[in-house]
Amino acid sequence: MLGAKSYVFHRRLDYRYPVIKYGKGIYLYDEQGKKYIDAVGGALVATIGHGVNQIAEEVAKLAKRVSYIHGSQFTTRLMEEYAEELCRVAPRGLSKVYFVSGGSEAVETAIKLARQYHYDAGNKSKYKIIFTWPSYHGASIGALSITGKHSTREIQRPFLLDFPHMPSCFCYRCPYGKSYPGCSLRCAVELEKVIKRAKADSIAAFMVEPVIGASAGAVVPPAGYLSVIRDICNKYNILLIFDEIMSGFGRTGKWFASQHWGCVPDITVVGKGLSAGFVSLSAVFCKKKIVETIRKKTGNFIHGFTFANNPLTTGVGRAVLRYLKKNNLVHRCAERGEYLLHKLRTLYKFDIVGDVRGLGLMTAVEFVKDKASKRPFSRNKKVAEKILQAAQKKGLMLYYSIGFVDKVNGDAVMVGPPFIVAEKEIDKIIEIFSQSISEVQKTL
Ligand code: PLP
Repeated sequence: MLGAKSYVFHRRLDYRYPVIKYGKGIYLYDEQGKKYIDAVGGALVATIGHGVNQIAEEVAKLAKRVSYIHGSQFTTRLMEEYAEELCRVAPRGLSKVYFVSGGSEAVETAIKLARQYHYDAGNKSKYKIIFTWPSYHGASIGALSITGKHSTREIQRPFLLDFPHMPSCFCYRCPYGKSYPGCSLRCAVELEKVIKRAKADSIAAFMVEPVIGASAGAVVPPAGYLSVIRDICNKYNILLIFDEIMSGFGRTGKWFASQHWGCVPDITVVGKGLSAGFVSLSAVFCKKKIVETIRKKTGNFIHGFTFANNPLTTGVGRAVLRYLKKNNLVHRCAERGEYLLHKLRTLYKFDIVGDVRGLGLMTAVEFVKDKASKRPFSRNKKVAEKILQAAQKKGLMLYYSIGFVDKVNGDAVMVGPPFIVAEKEIDKIIEIFSQSISEVQKTL
């Protein structure tokens, strides 16, 4: 266990870190010999599990071939093939891919791309990005500016850009107090009001997570939501950007979550599971018309990172894509996801379980003080954190989602194991999760 004495500036300063020695399948093993079920693949990243030799061998092979090439000077055959293979599984019409290292970089790239597209198309007043609340789009200043999460914004607030926002589509906690389908998708229709208020000729894009990730805990929209926002964006010449950093690449049981509803955005960002965690890789997909507009006017996309379009990470990405396909893992994720949701629903037996939701292997359980009124626990009770601690003690790793009800309160715990998870392993996850909830419920 490593704490304050470590030379590493760790992300958490109030925690003694177990030292991981290795991982295999859905399990991690620390130096003390403790075994953990990695029921969230870190943060819904490790989609094909740990210790996959085939990918490890590919990393070594690629590292031997070339150390580095710059994205403004060379390409590789592998990267070219990879982009083509990716576009074949992406929503139709997304036929250009820009590779970066992380999700925040991908989001920064997407919003700058939207801006340059409009600039080059002669719509120079368009620059604002409309976003939703709750949401999470990243830690860099641009991405944080369009993130609807109070706790991550507060300290950095003076830096943040002032962009228009609106409530997320969140049926369990409908911001308009309505219920589907009687609501007539009021939350989608709101987009038009926000556009009119902010003036359409100032808006470049609308950024939304088709399935909301850790800012609210696997929130799935009802049928029709995405197509209504798609139509509104078209009407006002606003690009629709989907953030699928968490929901993408098989996690919801389809390659892209948006494919569940057949809705094609103009730009989409994917990360986390794209490389299954082996290397730092994220990607920005866009329609050809965006790139062509830029090519014809400015000539180049004025943006770049040292590690963009990197030969090693894209090579590993290709190996992961082929591994997922060969082992039919996206389909398996859909199947296992149904099983997991079915099992998670048994947790409704607890007084504090208010909602069980998700799609594929992107799921969450929301905890409430009162089921009937859906009143959340006061944040200082730290319910989600306590459940995580109890589970970790028993060797189960989960992920929490907090503050989504009213910017302060709200407790949910996410479950999102690698796609290789077996039904028996899901049973074990539920057993330990259930014991942990029971333990914590007694203390509240
Ligand atoms: N967008 C979403 C939906 C995410 O879940 C995350 C990370 O959790 C990001 C963007 C930012 O990605 P990264 O942490 O790789 O910068």
